[in-house]
Amino acid sequence: MNPRATPRRSISLRLTAATVLLGMLVAVAVTALQVRAIYRNQVTAARAQLDEIQQSLLPSLEASLWQVDDGSTRLLLNALIHTPGIGYVQLDSEGRRLTRGKADVSALVERSYPLTHDDGQRFDLGTLRVVIDDRIAMARMHNAIVRELLTTIAAMLSMSVLLLLLFRRQVTRRLQIMADYASTLDFERLHTPLKLAQDRPHKRPDELDQVAQALDQMRVRMLDNLAVRVRHENELTLHRERLESLVQARTAALEEKTRQLEEKSRELEMLANTDGLTGVFSRRHFFTLFEQELARARRGGATMTVLMLDVDHFKHINDTYGHAAGDRVLVRIAETCRRELRRIDTLGRLGGEEFAALLPRSNRAAAAVTAERLRSVIAALSVDSEQGEAIRFTVSIGVAELTHPDESADALIERADAQLYRAKRNGRNRVCVDETPSTD
Ligand code: GH3
Ligand code: MG
Ligand code: MG
Repeated sequence: MNPRATPRRSISLRLTAATVLLGMLVAVAVTALQVRAIYRNQVTAARAQLDEIQQSLLPSLEASLWQVDDGSTRLLLNALIHTPGIGYVQLDSEGRRLTRGKADVSALVERSYPLTHDDGQRFDLGTLRVVIDDRIAMARMHNAIVRELLTTIAAMLSMSVLLLLLFRRQVTRRLQIMADYASTLDFERLHTPLKLAQDRPHKRPDELDQVAQALDQMRVRMLDNLAVRVRHENELTLHRERLESLVQARTAALEEKTRQLEEKSRELEMLANTDGLTGVFSRRHFFTLFEQELARARRGGATMTVLMLDVDHFKHINDTYGHAAGDRVLVRIAETCRRELRRIDTLGRLGGEEFAALLPRSNRAAAAVTAERLRSVIAALSVDSEQGEAIRFTVSIGVAELTHPDESADALIERADAQLYRAKRNGRNRVCVDETPSTD
């Protein structure tokens, strides 16, 4: 239930209704007591009236009866029936009955008087029966009931209204204020103390004041807790920010380090994969690429050819012009080979003055043409010695084509090598081609 909504059953209304109900019951009870008292009074008054009749009227009646004065008797009976309260009069005398009023009247009190004459000797004259009817008493009681009920109800109603107003002011309104306060209590309102409606606090606080006080103490405690939490959160945020900036700095440093390491690693790999002098692939990397190229050739069913190239009488060059000049010759040859070969071809220095080239998708005929072009271009080169002499040099080349997809790199190299040595044997500065037929 939303505590801010007006409750469907108001406690003050319920209390007031209970009070009204109780008041009604009390009113009825009080009225009943009053009516009972009135009834008794009426009965007592009626009896007194009967006593009065006995004293005032009875002697005259007895006298008129003794004197057989019918007129007086009737006059007396008429006077009697016209007396307020008397409903029925019945005179039995000498075997005769005289009545006044209605015989079936409802009696409040009735009395029979013996009528006598006494002059030394007692004579029985008859009986007089007087009935006091209850109409007056009833009317009085009815009036009393109406009056009592009306006054009691009026008193009860005004008291209830007073009670309702008082209860509203003292209890319901304060409860509602507390419910409103508690239901809308949020971080912002935590700074606003709970205030009950009255301007000045009670000197002697009642139970509701105590509840309000407890609520306010709870608010203060929450405020304290909040302050502590905010402080902790601020500290935490500060720490987190510091940590984040630290992590950022460390990450940046690490990234830079990683980048440098990767660069270094690329450089190292480059160094490991290339020959330091000529810049072509090292022996190890050449064979790695060879294996990859071989696998590709097997998959694609394409052919490939290997050239083995060796500088002729290189020892002589070294010996004649020095090792540095020999190096320059090697560099020049490597450069030339790279320029003359296709981009898809792979060139490696297998050791000393020995190079190998891998020509994918080239058969032995095409490779032989390439080898021949290389040989002649190299033969036309010259490198200057320290002394300015032109150093001329030549190369011998062995050519072998992959004849079977399952042939190993070593076997293919071996066949190319064999052709290289055939070229050497046949006088150098020439190209020899392996003619092994394809077994594919
Ligand atoms: P052939 O025509 O039979 O190949 O004779 P060759 O003299 O070229 O062959 P040999 O194998 O007898 O000599 C190769 C020489 O190459 C020996 C070695 O000192 C030299 N050499 C090996 N590596 C290098 C190098 O990196 N730089 C230089 N300047 N010389 C090298
Ligand atoms: Mg040589
Ligand atoms: Mg050699």
